[in-house]
Amino acid sequence: MEEMIFASEQGRVIPKEDKIFGINNRAKAMIAEEGKEKVVNATIGALLDDDGELIVLSSVNDVFKNLSPKEFAEYAPISGTAEFKAAVIKDALRTYEAKGFVEASVTPGGTGAIRNTVANYSDRGDSVLAADWYWSPYGTIASEQGRKVETFAFFNEERKFNAADLKKRAEEILKKQQRLVIILNTPAHNPTGYSLTTEDWTGVKKVLESLPDEKKITLLVDVAYIDFAGDEDEYRSFLPVLEEMPENVLTLISHSLSKAYTLYGMRCGALICIAKTEETAEEFKRVCEFSSRASWSNCPRAPQTILARIYSDPELKAKVFDERKGYREMLLRRGKAFEKAAAECGLEMVPFDAGFFASIPCSNPDKVSARLEKEGIFLVPLAKGLRVSIASVSEQVCCMLPSRILAAMKAEE
Ligand code: PLP
Repeated sequence: MEEMIFASEQGRVIPKEDKIFGINNRAKAMIAEEGKEKVVNATIGALLDDDGELIVLSSVNDVFKNLSPKEFAEYAPISGTAEFKAAVIKDALRTYEAKGFVEASVTPGGTGAIRNTVANYSDRGDSVLAADWYWSPYGTIASEQGRKVETFAFFNEERKFNAADLKKRAEEILKKQQRLVIILNTPAHNPTGYSLTTEDWTGVKKVLESLPDEKKITLLVDVAYIDFAGDEDEYRSFLPVLEEMPENVLTLISHSLSKAYTLYGMRCGALICIAKTEETAEEFKRVCEFSSRASWSNCPRAPQTILARIYSDPELKAKVFDERKGYREMLLRRGKAFEKAAAECGLEMVPFDAGFFASIPCSNPDKVSARLEKEGIFLVPLAKGLRVSIASVSEQVCCMLPSRILAAMKAEE
């Protein structure tokens, strides 16, 4: 660990360089030296076209270019403009009419929504529970706030969602603390691409029903990739289950405009609550506003206006959704191509459904990825395997990657 000079570490482990950005920089350096065609950069968490260029929805870009100065220059209310809040709830829930009390609070991307959840629904020193394959910023967010992430095994030996381990780990943690935030990233989970099935959701419900009812449980569903998993309505079919959770469970949704509207750099998302009582919903608004004020104050107005405009104009909305559908189909083709090539060469994948990423279980990920880097293939080594961004490489590359990964794994055995 690096010694601090002036800064105070406060129990956080602060690396010199973000791991993924570091790998990405090495990929860029190799491209500069050896040319684009020699390098596969499967590290990036953004949807790129087959030439490696960022895809930006032209329909969203048109709205952006037509914003009046006031529509981006003026401060927005801390919890978001009224039009945005109505639009983002629609965007997350679509045709589902929630029975509970639904409120939204704007955040700078899904990241801010996760941050405000941890800040308000867990106590200092608490553990937050996530799957053992998880997006590493969960750990950063928790540690920044004096919490930590503990994990349950995402899959059992039959490669099925492991509700039994979720139950075991939640029970263990709840022996030590009064509250528990559980984060489930689905559909199209990062880093595995897995989506919880209806059966999995029934399992989650049973687990939550079995936990001590005097404890306060917050279930945060991180839906950052929901519009890149497949049919946008079908992939929202789990929403009713969220309202069947017991009284001591509060359901929150972390929504993001980064991927679905290609507004990554505009920093816009929302934390949405589906509360059982009006008091809980009112409290949600109060605590979110306080935390937002203390962390980033108000969020950018421009993306809020963009979403509100899209939802106020059915023709424009259809245009944006159609354009996204075309890119989603491209991404789904890449995923299928990767899965097929992996099956053909005998490369084991972590259960995969759809989305930006797929993962390969591997006992020495650092060594295997270092070997692949020498061959010009850049992946992200995780604790339990390798993450491949299929969002950032072509279908053709998806066909060739599995055998190259397998060969590197065999060479490092
Ligand atoms: N959750 C997961 C699992 C993610 O992978 C991401 C983005 O990479 C996010 C949430 C939110 O991202 P952003 O803050 O850019 O909206």
